[in-house]
Amino acid sequence: MLTTTPLQGGRVRVDEKAILNCRADLNQLLPLKYHWAWEKYLAGCNNHWMPTEVSMQADIALWKSRDGLSEDERHAVKRNLGFFAASESLVANNLVLAIYRHLTNPECRQFLLRQAFEEAIHTHAFQYIVESLGLDEGELFNMYREVPSITEKAAWALEYTHALSDPAFQTGTPAADQKLLRDLVAFYVVFEGMWFYTGFAQILSLGRRNKMVGIAEQYQYILRDESVHLNFGIDVINQIKQENPALWTAEMRAEIHTMLRQACQLEVAYGRDTMPRGLLGLNAGLCEQYMQFISNRRCLQLGLEPLFGETENPFPWMSEAIDLKKEKNFFETRVTEYQNGGALSWD
Ligand code: FE
Ligand code: MN
Repeated sequence: MLTTTPLQGGRVRVDEKAILNCRADLNQLLPLKYHWAWEKYLAGCNNHWMPTEVSMQADIALWKSRDGLSEDERHAVKRNLGFFAASESLVANNLVLAIYRHLTNPECRQFLLRQAFEEAIHTHAFQYIVESLGLDEGELFNMYREVPSITEKAAWALEYTHALSDPAFQTGTPAADQKLLRDLVAFYVVFEGMWFYTGFAQILSLGRRNKMVGIAEQYQYILRDESVHLNFGIDVINQIKQENPALWTAEMRAEIHTMLRQACQLEVAYGRDTMPRGLLGLNAGLCEQYMQFISNRRCLQLGLEPLFGETENPFPWMSEAIDLKKEKNFFETRVTEYQNGGALSWD
């Protein structure tokens, strides 16, 4: 039970901090206990960007051209945008309405505040792309309600938010704490850590062929942000496991395995639906292989056995895109500008 009145009692000691069910005052960022959370907050600030800085001229010309893109490529791009357009706001709503309330630690909340803004920037990116290309706004933003392969993914994830956003929901019992863990897996590991990655691969693969380069550049920025979000989620989950080992039962581990297996199946179905005939250098089969590779990595990060036999990464260039150092080189000008901006002196 959370009985401590914040402004009574003695000083808060760092060892009283806990990710879940913390009884100490939650307004004391310092002294830091979870340095990894603070470092990820700083990484997010250093990676700041805005969608409107990316030129869409080449994309507009290509999209309006008669034969610059095949019908299959247009179909894949639209479905991809449709999935992301709603997904970014599902992630944001889950953060603000479900996760923030239940993670009882100031340094984690500092990161969540930054992440919430980044999700707003990502939703902004899709608004900017839709507007630049003159796409049908209603069609794109309703795909998660109307296109079955997208609807099924959204519905699968929304289930996990529903339990937590109920105002009566409280952590503090093993069953409730396990519910929170499931939500963290559904959003950080599955949504941002598995489903986003195939979507990134689709667009970056087009970008590598010099198509839709403005969208591809924005996706690289989003990917850079998302890889920090994913790693924060993994750290939070592993820290909760460490602080509450009784939650990580054999049943819980089996359940999470099942979640990741279902997520992989849903993604494979989505790959077939977005690329029924395949594109140059990319098809549903390769995306399935990539998803199995990614699923195994996520299992490893959570301390679980891999779900699939040894799989090779069919898109080795994706690891280059994720590598922060290379991305910083790639984006040198803009990142440097922001970092200078952050270091301005006011005297
Ligand atoms: Fe995002
Ligand atoms: Mn995110």
